Amino acid sequence: MNRGRRGRRTSVMVRIARERVAALFALAEAEGRPGGDRPLGDRYVRLARRIGMRYTVRLAPEYRERYCRSCSSLWIEGRTVRTRLRSGRRVRTCLVCGRIRRTGLSPTPGVGSPPPPLVVPAAEVVSVETAEEAVDLEESEEE
Ligand SMILES: [Zn+2]
Repeated sequence: MNRGRRGRRTSVMVRIARERVAALFALAEAEGRPGGDRPLGDRYVRLARRIGMRYTVRLAPEYRERYCRSCSSLWIEGRTVRTRLRSGRRVRTCLVCGRIRRTGLSPTPGVGSPPPPLVVPAAEVVSVETAEEAVDLEESEEE
């Protein structure tokens, strides 16, 4: 565990960060419904991801399924994401930026076969963080 390595964060902060992430995803979901403001929903997703990064709170798997990791679009089935099943895997294509994400099928309780472990290497999380920070810096320096 690398707990405490980054300093500046306490268990209370992490708990609050988790609550904010949950609240933001709830707001995003609401905007993703018909009649909602989808760009606003995307914005909530970005905010939630930013909070998760700042406090190194890993987003719960249920949240990670709801947005595009590439462009942070809120994923709405049939509108901003297309899901296909292919040889036991779920292939999701972001209809906003075209990014394809493959995941194992979500487990069906009571069927028997153990679900594949959801492995998210820490390196991936870090690379997303640094990439987004780099973009932010470039944008602010251009002004
Ligand atoms: Zn996308």
